[in-house]
Amino acid sequence: MKRSTTILSVILLFLFSCSSPKEDSGSVVNPVIVAPEPIIEYGFEADTFLVVKDEIRSGQSLGKILNEFGVSYSQIDKIARKTRKTEYDVRYLKAGHPYAMFCVQDTAGRENAQIFIYEEDKINYVVYDFRDTLKVYQAQKPVEVKLIEDAGIIEKGSSFFLTGASLGMSDRLCEIISDEIYCWTLDFRHVQPGDRFKVLYEAKYLEGEFVGVGNVKAVYFNHLEKDFYAFPFHDGGFDDYFDQDGKNLRKFFLKTPVKNSRISSRYSKNRFHPVQKKWKSHKGTDYAAPRGTPIWSTADGVIEVAKYAKYNGNYVKVRHNGTFTTQYLHMSKIAKGIRPGTHVKQGQTIGYVGSTGLATGPHVCYRFWKNGMQVDPFKSKLPPSDPISNNSRVYFETYRDSLSQLLNVIPFSEEF
Ligand SMILES: [Zn+2]
Repeated sequence: MKRSTTILSVILLFLFSCSSPKEDSGSVVNPVIVAPEPIIEYGFEADTFLVVKDEIRSGQSLGKILNEFGVSYSQIDKIARKTRKTEYDVRYLKAGHPYAMFCVQDTAGRENAQIFIYEEDKINYVVYDFRDTLKVYQAQKPVEVKLIEDAGIIEKGSSFFLTGASLGMSDRLCEIISDEIYCWTLDFRHVQPGDRFKVLYEAKYLEGEFVGVGNVKAVYFNHLEKDFYAFPFHDGGFDDYFDQDGKNLRKFFLKTPVKNSRISSRYSKNRFHPVQKKWKSHKGTDYAAPRGTPIWSTADGVIEVAKYAKYNGNYVKVRHNGTFTTQYLHMSKIAKGIRPGTHVKQGQTIGYVGSTGLATGPHVCYRFWKNGMQVDPFKSKLPPSDPISNNSRVYFETYRDSLSQLLNVIPFSEEF
């Protein structure tokens, strides 16, 4: 700490010796000494350190970097052991990510590492503070959150994503709206010219640069002259989106157990089996997806089976309630912690796509039971999620009305 102060005073002295104008040297005005605003980087007074910035190169470990800055191997070993198997494990530094090393000079003029900063992404970074006792923690750069409104009308030959992009909406925002908020309600591949939307959302900025989408506060979508509203609301369990009547937009079941997948074989009473080379029924829906793609439980439930079997490969069976059970076959791997008795949430990863058991290529075979009978989920009437509870209804309606008012005054671009 003492050394840092010395450096600061040296810098101050240097600043004043440089900045005193020569013409004034004769006058007797006493200069008013004003310390410059400290330069804060990653929460530290950067101007009291020598700061070296670079990015992690491939194959470069934190140990290697630290050693170049005079940190002893025994100290490096201590850091490695302290962070092992935590989210700050120094073995997980990724090539290409920026880092900053805050150093002070020792008496021999060598730079000594004091603090190491590793940027996980544009906002989050990890601090390894070697001064005194080792401290490791995650921190965030100060992010500015702005409430943004957008409104668009889908033109002939365009899509929701293209229209959104033309308004400056990020792909991620469009994805949240189409794949997360409305995925049970609307099929965005079938939007029509004249369909229109409004959205109110938080955008995160770092030093003036857009760095990500925050909460989506309200959405209005008009498809074929029908209104679809979405308001996020926390009603007991977790945040869900509700429509203008307080109905949950989320269904009891997810539409698919894997993201961005393609149905490679539908449920059928009679199909030609590609491996067994014979006609038989296929009481499941196959979703082809790259090996390792996370497989989600399509609804909340309790794991009933999680094991390997000759034909099913690694598979998991989830009981959702007295009526519904689902099963997921051919996993490359069952997810950590998934075993009989484990409670899972809708959308929780229970395994990863593979081709174990009787399978030609990587896919998940999704099986669905209703009252003990295997059925085609696409042809069955499935339950909705719970609507707004009676306890929360008044509060929800007030909240919905205030958001609706904000949505209603957003003009469509043609009305500008
Ligand atoms: Zn199958």
